[in-house]
Amino acid sequence: MLVDGYGRNVNYLRISVTERCNFRCQYCMPEKPFSWVPRENLLSFEDLFLFIKVGIDEGINKIRITGGEPLLRADLDTFIKMISDYRSDIDLALTTNGFLLKQCAQKLKDAGLKRVNISLDSLKPEIAMKIAQKDVFKHVMAGIDEAQRVGLGVKINTVPLKGINSGEVLDLLEFAKSRGMSIRFIEYMENKHAKDKLQGLKAEEIQAIIAQKYPFKAVGRVGSSPAHLFELEDGYRFGIIDPHKHDFCEDCNRIRLTAEGMLIPCLYFDEAMSIKESVQKGDIQGATEVLKTVLKNKPEKNKWSEDNENETSERAFYETGG
Ligand code: SAM
Ligand code: SF4
Repeated sequence: MLVDGYGRNVNYLRISVTERCNFRCQYCMPEKPFSWVPRENLLSFEDLFLFIKVGIDEGINKIRITGGEPLLRADLDTFIKMISDYRSDIDLALTTNGFLLKQCAQKLKDAGLKRVNISLDSLKPEIAMKIAQKDVFKHVMAGIDEAQRVGLGVKINTVPLKGINSGEVLDLLEFAKSRGMSIRFIEYMENKHAKDKLQGLKAEEIQAIIAQKYPFKAVGRVGSSPAHLFELEDGYRFGIIDPHKHDFCEDCNRIRLTAEGMLIPCLYFDEAMSIKESVQKGDIQGATEVLKTVLKNKPEKNKWSEDNENETSERAFYETGG
């Protein structure tokens, strides 16, 4: 079992397999970075997998593949199969913008992927285009259709931004519900790579919008999930991820690995340690030591939860995978 310096059980590893992306979402990567990490600096799937085995043997039982856009990395299904063949009971999920999902959902499912979170910020093609800065809507919808058709569990992730898609909270909730998918509204997390002057809806504002049409009750957080769950009268559950709340980090159970092999204890902070040298030498003991040191140094909480409107993370979401 992996336990951090605050006694929290860490069992969840999020792996960003690339920082590259085919979207330019205003809240994440509004412009192409000055330079991408050179491809030769990326860890191979074999190297990532060595670390994954170390993590699983130490107590990781939940893995999410993310990015950048993870479907841009060639042969992702092979990587998923490596993990799934090692331990088929791992809760293995993917977060994607959905643009390329239509072509590969079946392959990913066959490789052992169980669940997929698809980012969908609008049901209006022109608003989706405004946020992603690309005409994405019909491709994302086709990705959602295909993921459901092949039998993957599908969740929708939405970041409601004031004055952009904040008027669509109910429509998006109703869309997800009508398709048997759960939806999680994510508070916009201020970071210095996002477009200036963006403002996200806070949890209370999202709840107030939904309450105008649907009575609901709070269910709380389930397990170590970052989402607060709410239940409509007919039993449908939606979630709100609210990193600005003081208790957000209390049960944090996750660490993050970047495509270059940096192991990150907290999404907010810059601190990280590299596993690259150990995994490239096949040094399992060295990789285990890095993992344990990162856990020991995991911060107690992020700074978005401090009552400071201007709190901004230096970290790029497209590097850490959100
Ligand atoms: N490209 C994939 C996607 O968009 O789903 C995976 C990577 S993306 C960084 C993972 C999640 O982080 C997405 O659901 C996205 O909406 C969310 N995200 C990115 N930047 C964010 C921000 N500044 N605040 C809140 N959520 C953010
Ligand atoms: Fe790309 Fe996802 Fe970031 Fe949008 S949120 S720019 S799709 S990595």
